Amino acid sequence: MIEKVNQHAHCHMCGNVIPISETLCSKECKDKYQNMVKRRKMFVYLMYAIIFFIIALFFVQNIF
Ligand SMILES: [Zn+2]
Repeated sequence: MIEKVNQHAHCHMCGNVIPISETLCSKECKDKYQNMVKRRKMFVYLMYAIIFFIIALFFVQNIF
């Protein structure tokens, strides 16, 4: 009985109770999750771009 109650997971986006094999409860949450992952990826690329820009700036300063 108690084990059966524990056989569930929570939606990563809204926290709804879902089957243990799932990570998200609905298409809406899946879309939201996809957007979040996409945004996080963009943020990582942006960080790389900033780091690259700073390194490039150092090189330019050394040349002149
Ligand atoms: Zn959800």
